[in-house]
Amino acid sequence: MYNEPLPSRDSCDPDSLCSSKRLVLVVDDDPHVVRILELRLARAGYRTLAAGSASEAMQLLLEHHPPIVIADWNMPEMSGLDLCRKIRETPAVESTYFIILTADTGLDRVVQGFDAGVNDYLAKSLDPRELLGRLKSAWRIVRLEQTLNAKNAALERANRELAVANLRLKVLNERLAVQATTDELTGLLNRRAALSRVEELFTASCRYDQPIACLSVDVDHFKRVNDNYGHDVGDTVLRQVARTMREQTRESDLVCRLGGEEFLIVCPSTGCYRAVELAERLRSEMERLEIICGSVRLRVTVSIGVAHRAPHIHSVAALIKASDDALYAAKHGGRNTVRIAFDPDTDAAS
Ligand code: GH3
Ligand code: MG
Ligand code: MG
Repeated sequence: MYNEPLPSRDSCDPDSLCSSKRLVLVVDDDPHVVRILELRLARAGYRTLAAGSASEAMQLLLEHHPPIVIADWNMPEMSGLDLCRKIRETPAVESTYFIILTADTGLDRVVQGFDAGVNDYLAKSLDPRELLGRLKSAWRIVRLEQTLNAKNAALERANRELAVANLRLKVLNERLAVQATTDELTGLLNRRAALSRVEELFTASCRYDQPIACLSVDVDHFKRVNDNYGHDVGDTVLRQVARTMREQTRESDLVCRLGGEEFLIVCPSTGCYRAVELAERLRSEMERLEIICGSVRLRVTVSIGVAHRAPHIHSVAALIKASDDALYAAKHGGRNTVRIAFDPDTDAAS
């Protein structure tokens, strides 16, 4: 029972919610005490709910969430103290401000109340000034708690939004990192990413005295493909050549598009003979490969220069220059061929 209709909890605007929360639940098995409290509270601008027992009080609490309870200590079925304990154990209403009504305001009695979780006590004499003073203090604390809860909720919302934004940023950064290292047309590593990775592989090869080899690959007469069939067909050829190189090499090999129709393959732990084997296999695969683009069917060949880390090769630049020179020789040697930079017998690590 309550003394005026309550707005529905969901549809409240902040102000009306505030006034609906100026609600006090009065609990006493003595209807006379309930009536006095109701009148005094109503006069002071509070709205009240009234319960004749602790179990009825619990129901009203769970239904209407009044922020303040004034309950009699001595009640037949469940005492005010037990009601308070129950409230403190019930998460939905645990922070309700609880004032216990007691005829005995002796220290022992009051301390017992605080131990059970009451926030304050009120002498059963129900002095109007004391009642309103204690309620004023209760209301101040309730308002502080409500403000704190609202701020916490806003903070949690902001944290959630921040977490989502961070996740989006992480995905974007990862995409950006991939874009920065990948050649768009072929999906191979781009020149910049490849050159920094080759440095690492070369350094490791020197430190652990492991062989390393490098293949410079260039499509023969590629300009003619563009000239005869158009740029789109040229692009398809580049993609297909790239895919074949990836398929023919090991996961640990580094395959990159240096630019145009020029590619670089770096093979860690690979000596000269193995590298030449790979180059020859690649060359013949390319020769066999029929590239289909719409109604166009064509074949291309590649020339390949091979270099390995011979004793006089002390840098990546020298290694790549050697394989480039060998490629140049392959072009001059008639194309569709593999040329080797140095005699493998000069390299103990081959
Ligand atoms: P060689 O056998 O001596 O290597 O002759 P080539 O025609 O392959 O070499 P050249 O360097 O004369 O021509 C390379 C051509 O590759 C010229 C350029 O327009 C073309 N090219 C460069 N990048 C791309 C690309 O991304 N797509 C297409 N379709 N063509 C490209
Ligand atoms: Mg070419
Ligand atoms: Mg070229």
